Amino acid sequence: MKVFRDMKKSADCLIIGAGLIGMLTARELARAGLRVLLLDRGRAGGESSWAGGGILSPLYPWRCHAPVTELVRWSQRRYPALADALFSATGVDPQWTASGLLILEQGEADEALAWARLHDVEMEKVDAAACLRLEPALGSAPEGGLWLPGVAQIRNPRLIAALKDDLGRLGVLLHEHEEVRELHRENGRVVGARTRGGMVIEVPRIVIAGGAWSSALLQHLGIDLRVFPVRGQMLLFRGVPGMLRRIVLAHGHYAIPRRDGHILVGSSVEEAGFDKAVTADVRDELLAAARALVPALADCPLVRHWAGLRPGSRSGLPVIGPVPGIEGLYLNTGHFRNGVVLGPASARLLADLILARTPVVEPAPFAVAHQAEFAADFL
Ligand SMILES: Cc1cc2nc3c(=O)[nH]c(=O)nc-3n(C[C@H](O)[C@H](O)[C@H](O)COP(=O)(O)OP(=O)(O)OC[C@H]3O[C@@H](n4cnc5c(N)ncnc54)[C@H](O)[C@@H]3O)c2cc1C
Repeated sequence: MKVFRDMKKSADCLIIGAGLIGMLTARELARAGLRVLLLDRGRAGGESSWAGGGILSPLYPWRCHAPVTELVRWSQRRYPALADALFSATGVDPQWTASGLLILEQGEADEALAWARLHDVEMEKVDAAACLRLEPALGSAPEGGLWLPGVAQIRNPRLIAALKDDLGRLGVLLHEHEEVRELHRENGRVVGARTRGGMVIEVPRIVIAGGAWSSALLQHLGIDLRVFPVRGQMLLFRGVPGMLRRIVLAHGHYAIPRRDGHILVGSSVEEAGFDKAVTADVRDELLAAARALVPALADCPLVRHWAGLRPGSRSGLPVIGPVPGIEGLYLNTGHFRNGVVLGPASARLLADLILARTPVVEPAPFAVAHQAEFAADFL
């Protein structure tokens, strides 16, 4: 494969992992003029990025660390333009949709409303009747709720398809089914990597965007990154368009209406190692939650049940930036439940750091060295 042989000698940057984080990072770097080689050991976007729900907000956004909120807000402002740009460049519509998020809980309303005022987020406390007016498909809303009209969603498999196409146009060389096994360094800097097939790639910069698998590549360099898999199971129902209009959330379970009538219901949060199996008990739990949220789902066919592995980090923050002591090696990982919404901002921040541009947000909280400063209270 000649192109690959040429690129492996001439790439400015190798990105390991073509999930949304790796693809968005590749896009940023390619748009800045770098020659980027992007490798994934499976299908691009075939892991957590495909499995996710595509809600463009943390579920309970006021619970996030403040630096994460900054990244979220940056991404949220840019998502409509990103979706439009990808649609016009590729013809694949990622279906950015401003569904709004209706949270059927009020226990943390004071804190949530104060957070919303501080960050200029539209949020309203609504009573039970208003909840049912906003979303007539609800079963009930005994507690009333919090209404966030600005929250949007994106259809992640379509976002992945559009990005993949766009990366080709930008000259990014994407190779699927190509696993990186080892990183090479010399005199304190990264010099390349070796793939499972024994291919040696010489490159001056490497970004690890390996999602839940990111720690493994660092282990033999003596770095304990502590990014770990957190399984999430999801159900997909075939409904009819308009049956549910809002993203609805109650006590950790949510339903997301797609434009074509499909409705996703999620999700579990399980530490089960790298096991992506689905389980009958979680299916039953999600079925019960689905019917409680939207009673009409009891009559809709369940078309799919899957699991994905989120990249958790002990600090609760993503890890974005250079690896201290190894020049040329960078991380963009650990996005846990929020990698879709955080993706554009994380990619931009890392590109800023690689290219020595003024960073869009303060990078220190996401630095490898500063991870320990934050409490491990997010699970
Ligand atoms: C059920 C569920 C629901 C979710 N809902 C949402 C949501 O609504 N909103 C939101 O913002 N986020 C959500 N998320 C989280 C979000 O999906 C993740 O945070 C995000 O996809 C992480 O992206 P990533 O690119 O880091 O990881 P991944 O998508 O897992 O990609 C990592 C890639 O690296 C590759 N890789 C790993 N090691 C190697 C190697 N050695 N060589 C080559 N390739 C390698 C893998 O094959 C994989 O393709 C959800 C996740 C799940 C599971």
